[in-house]
Amino acid sequence: MGYDFLEASNDIDFGDIVIVGYPFDSTSSFRSGSRNGPYSLRYHSRNLETFSPYRKIDIHTKKYSDIGDLELPFGDIEKTNSMIYENTKRLLKMKKQIISIGGEHSVTYPIIKAYSEVFEDFIMVVFDAHADLRENYQGVKFSHACVVRNCADIITTKRICQLGIRSYTEEEWNFSKNMLYFSDTINNFDFSILKNKKIYISIDIDALDPSIVPGTGTPEPGGIFFNDFINFLVKFQEFDVIGCDLVELSPDYDQSAVSSIAAAKIMRELILLL
Ligand code: MN
Ligand code: MN
Repeated sequence: MGYDFLEASNDIDFGDIVIVGYPFDSTSSFRSGSRNGPYSLRYHSRNLETFSPYRKIDIHTKKYSDIGDLELPFGDIEKTNSMIYENTKRLLKMKKQIISIGGEHSVTYPIIKAYSEVFEDFIMVVFDAHADLRENYQGVKFSHACVVRNCADIITTKRICQLGIRSYTEEEWNFSKNMLYFSDTINNFDFSILKNKKIYISIDIDALDPSIVPGTGTPEPGGIFFNDFINFLVKFQEFDVIGCDLVELSPDYDQSAVSSIAAAKIMRELILLL
């Protein structure tokens, strides 16, 4: 829609890092609107400096391009999944490191499916308020409320860490004991469980406290605060991060645009991790 993420190139051949948007929100269980997430994140990124005060590095030390949004058929989750899967496969074949912007969290499933066919043994680190471990939600298997469960069907529970999780059913709580790691907080996380592993990072923006990010479909009080989150994220510079996504930004609930700016600020750090 005319804007790129923070001074990005439009040339897909410019470097190895590619930003792509998946504006899909048809399975959103409470209120929709994350289809406008990619647009708002890109637009508000213009508020930011290209220099990271956390890393003391400018993102122009990385070569990244923004190839815009994939046009997706609203209402058709199966077709959307296959289009995101094919697009991710295409980019991975080009040896790209991908940052995907949602859209709702369901978009992560086809991404992980494609990654699992290229990378054998990566660990998925998920930040979220919600467990997303349901087998189905209102009969919909590929709902955003089931995305981590669906990913576990592909890469197994033993390769998934879940942080910030403070909302789940009793069934999800029981199932969560299978995960490599599951916690309501980022404190006390033992990074040694990630040693020598490739890492895929999935950030559902509602992991952050709603006082910082009100612009999301299913806000959940009791979340992670901004500086704590960024300082934690920066620690992944020690690891081989192979891709990430940032989902569930829903700008209609975000009158001051602070949620979009927070998301853009997180994106800047993600670029530096790749
Ligand atoms: Mn989620
Ligand atoms: Mn969530």
